[in-house]
Amino acid sequence: MKTYPVYLNGEFVITEKTSVVTNPATGDIFAKMSIVDQARVAQAIHDAQVAFLGWRALTAKARGEWLHKIACELERRRDEISRVMTMECGKPLAQSVIEVNVAVDHLRWFAEEGRRGYGRIIPHQTDGKRNLVVKTPVGVVAAISPWNFPLMLGVRKIAPALAAGCPVILKPASATPLCNVAFAEACDAVKLPRGVFQLVCGSASEIAKEFLDNPLVRKITFTGSTEVGQKLIAGAAKNIKPLSLELGGLAPVLVFDDADLEKAVEGTMMAKFRNTGQSCVAANRIYVQRGIYERFVKLFVEKTKALKVGDGLEPDVQIGALMNEEAVKNTEAYVADAIKKGAKLLCGGKRPARSGYFFEPTVLADVPHDVRCVTEEVFAPLAAITPFDTEAEAIERANSTKYGLSAYAFTRDMSRTFRLMENLEAGIIGINDGVPTTSNAPFGGMKQSGWGRELGTEGLESFLDTKHVSILL
Ligand code: NAP
Repeated sequence: MKTYPVYLNGEFVITEKTSVVTNPATGDIFAKMSIVDQARVAQAIHDAQVAFLGWRALTAKARGEWLHKIACELERRRDEISRVMTMECGKPLAQSVIEVNVAVDHLRWFAEEGRRGYGRIIPHQTDGKRNLVVKTPVGVVAAISPWNFPLMLGVRKIAPALAAGCPVILKPASATPLCNVAFAEACDAVKLPRGVFQLVCGSASEIAKEFLDNPLVRKITFTGSTEVGQKLIAGAAKNIKPLSLELGGLAPVLVFDDADLEKAVEGTMMAKFRNTGQSCVAANRIYVQRGIYERFVKLFVEKTKALKVGDGLEPDVQIGALMNEEAVKNTEAYVADAIKKGAKLLCGGKRPARSGYFFEPTVLADVPHDVRCVTEEVFAPLAAITPFDTEAEAIERANSTKYGLSAYAFTRDMSRTFRLMENLEAGIIGINDGVPTTSNAPFGGMKQSGWGRELGTEGLESFLDTKHVSILL
């Protein structure tokens, strides 16, 4: 069985201690991953600081050229990386290919956006003084990423940080390190200066402790659960360590009577079942207005029953495996809880008769508001549909959560669209759009869904310090 290396200061290092990587479609361990201890993380941070001095001195244009080269390398290896991704996280292969393409697009966006880290000159208000605002890279960045989009979510941090002039040390999820090894290989292949990108794996709490305590780390950027985000906030208090946090979500979908039925069903299916429902922006709660409710539910169930479930490597699979056995058991418990409290099971509802961590695409209708699959982040192909009567009621329902990451609405009424834009408490809003995320627009949450934004112009800002320079002439 192959053991994969970490990437430290320009060298691939196989360590004695390893963790294992499991294929969720079979339950089989198929690779080992090298892991490092806290002392080695401290060394990586030191090496990143050395690299920072050279990297920050390059022009943004030159840094962008490195990013373009890494993008080309990932593109060249797209098929191979996609297969590895599917094997380590169960994602259908076609969706892994899309993920590699999106990661490439993030790199290309920030390769160019880095050239627009503008400062400004402010008209002075004291004779003989001039006031300038300049932007400089924050310094060494530590990034922690989750398993559900194992390449793209790391790249969403690495690309803007490198573009801004910051070296990055990435700690990916232990379950999905392999496509990040491929990213390190791409950096190595294009001869990115040593220490500018490093990959560490190992105990999350140990690595995070070094990230939090080491004064050379100037920013921690994290994507994962709200619970771990809270731990990082607590740990950051001692050194006032700046954090960017992309945390959990509980996305509502609001389907209004005036919506185009086909498009509303199609968009909601995308928002629900993409990545087998394991997405922070997945449709967790589907609210449908009474006048269109029966027709929406009928078509949604019809299309859900037609989804092909299987090992992501098999052709045409749309629903892959869940991440682990625990995820399957949680989903069984969600279904049982909802049915007990009065929801109607219209399709699915159980694990299929095959090995691996699968769950049938499931639709529950007439779902009460207090069931667990409505109040908790589900991460499974489980759609919970509930009727509503008025727009005011729908907005109140949508906002009645501690999360505020994404929200979706389907309507053809332009006035309503503006009311929803203004009143929905979510950082990302899709109107008639089940997949609103794009490299050129900000991504992130309100309330307990996080701090800061990735992508867009805002994604670069996260890795820049703002300095005011006052010059007495
Ligand atoms: P998670 O358990 O929070 O893990 C995320 C990352 O944090 C992993 O690399 C994990 O390492 C690490 N980690 C675990 N314990 C830690 C600690 N004490 N200190 C520092 N890091 C620690 O989340 P997940 O299960 O991988 O991902 C699912 C969650 O992520 C969901 O809540 C989802 O909504 C959220 N998410 C948010 C976004 C967004 O952009 N807002 C995007 C995707 C996912 P190990 O793997 O080694 O444990």
